Amino acid sequence: MLNAECCAYNPPAMKKLLFLLLALTTFATAQRTVIHAAKLFDAKSGKTLSNQDIVIEGDKIVSVGPAAKAAPGDKVINLPNVLPGLIDVHTHITGDPKFGYEELSVSTPAEALTGAKNAKITIEAGFTTIRNLGAGAYTDIALRDAINNGDLPGPRIIASGPPLGITGGHCDNNLLPFEYHVKADGVADGIQGVQQKVREVIKYGADVIKICATGGVLSKGDDPKASQYSLEEMKAIVADAHRLGRKVAAHAHGGEGIIWASEAGVDSIEHGSYIDDAGIATLKKNGTYMVPTIYLNEWLLANMDKIGFPAIYRQKMIDVAAVSEKNMAHAMMSGVKTAFGTDAAVYPHGLNARQFVTYVHMGLTPAQAIQTATVNAADLLGWSNKVGTIEAGKWADIIATDADPTQDITTLQHVKFVMKGGVIFKNDYSK
Ligand SMILES: [Zn+2]
Repeated sequence: MLNAECCAYNPPAMKKLLFLLLALTTFATAQRTVIHAAKLFDAKSGKTLSNQDIVIEGDKIVSVGPAAKAAPGDKVINLPNVLPGLIDVHTHITGDPKFGYEELSVSTPAEALTGAKNAKITIEAGFTTIRNLGAGAYTDIALRDAINNGDLPGPRIIASGPPLGITGGHCDNNLLPFEYHVKADGVADGIQGVQQKVREVIKYGADVIKICATGGVLSKGDDPKASQYSLEEMKAIVADAHRLGRKVAAHAHGGEGIIWASEAGVDSIEHGSYIDDAGIATLKKNGTYMVPTIYLNEWLLANMDKIGFPAIYRQKMIDVAAVSEKNMAHAMMSGVKTAFGTDAAVYPHGLNARQFVTYVHMGLTPAQAIQTATVNAADLLGWSNKVGTIEAGKWADIIATDADPTQDITTLQHVKFVMKGGVIFKNDYSK
């Protein structure tokens, strides 16, 4: 008989050893962390709960509630005000504030190293997930992979690689004259051209497609109000991207470009400076998110002279800043779905959370402002089952602050504890 033969060949000592090994392995994987939160922000309801215990095994949350008992061997961490790791859906993590001809001196390897520096700054500021919308030569893809491999500290990155744009548009590089024959990596024109470029950026690792639907501020010779991609080109981009499982984020300032991008089916409008009532109605009809990158106005206007902001962008910046906050606030308060995105790189990385104050100034409650960077952002990313709330089954991406952020939103500018996937990246409370 097979069974009898099998067991007869297993000496008892070996069986004991196997059992011991199995028990040790089980013990190792079952080691848990229990976070006791004096207060916990429930991102779904926007309410603050008291005395909650978050049980973490490996990189996931396994339970949350008032009555979890720490078992012997559990690591217990007491924290004052706990909330989900924050999400910034519009960064340029491999860039620092450098404008105009200064940008031309930045090599690809230098850009990648800048990204490594900023990734550490960003996660330590409490942002455990970012969506990077535009980087040269796939530096953001390389950074994403290095972080995922555990080679570098940093947030989870959903990365676009080079942004798609028309020849001479906001996402081209127009600084050098014709004889240099320079064009940006993501330049693509016409239906066939944009289809090929969407497939190319996906080939080299893009998780999301970034496009420039209108002109912009930080580019030479174009107009933020003017549409750049045609409706037909954007429809072709969205069709290919969605079929290949990627969302599309559209840089758009001008009213017409905002409407065209939304009608073409993009998932988010980035900036939205000149959004009007027709744009608001279109975004609401199509369920398109708006990502108001608004704090950059305040920082740039205050620092223009200090940083030697180039004259070629200056008037455009002043014109856009004169209307964008009012227009974006009107859209937010009219019920356009809003996700938190900063455009960090236009101002120094790590200051991302300053924008919560601006969102509150624009009319959101502090709880609603935090929701733009948690549940709303997770929804836009298609990651609602992974991040954005502290719930069983989600990644253990957890931060803590001294004050209750629903009472004092500025406390998010001084995050004291950061955990990503069960690993602690910062803990000022242990000092
Ligand atoms: Zn941007």
